[in-house]
Amino acid sequence: MAGEPQADCLFCKIVAGEVPATVVRDTETTVAFRDINPQAPVHVLVIPKAHHRDAVTLATEAPQVAADVLREAGEVAALEKLAVSEGGPGTGYRVVFNTGTGAGQTVFHAHAHVLGGRGLDWPPG
Ligand code: IMP
Repeated sequence: MAGEPQADCLFCKIVAGEVPATVVRDTETTVAFRDINPQAPVHVLVIPKAHHRDAVTLATEAPQVAADVLREAGEVAALEKLAVSEGGPGTGYRVVFNTGTGAGQTVFHAHAHVLGGRGLDWPPG
């Protein structure tokens, strides 16, 4: 059933406390924790506590929780002082949802990458 924990899912194990993580925010519906292999000075993952395979599936199956994930991305950015208003390299942030193996998704539990703290090139690699 949509949203049920999956026994073989790494991020479900983090939600359950079975795999350790450096948690920066925890809400009723979401958890935000530091990426184990950071690609920027700030690299935090925001995930729904319920299992959905990717961000678009989450938005279809649980739209309110998808909104929670996006709002939490902004809360993390504020917490990490990635002020949008100042401008220049190292300010602002990027929210990324890799979707599908061809786009770099390796963990099939929806997650937002919140990246910042350095200049971020466009287009991404
Ligand atoms: P994806 O490649 O977009 O699916 O992102 C998965 C992310 O999870 C990668 O950036 C990994 O570095 C990260 N990751 C994998 N295992 C762990 C972990 O145990 N703790 C925190 N982040 C992890």
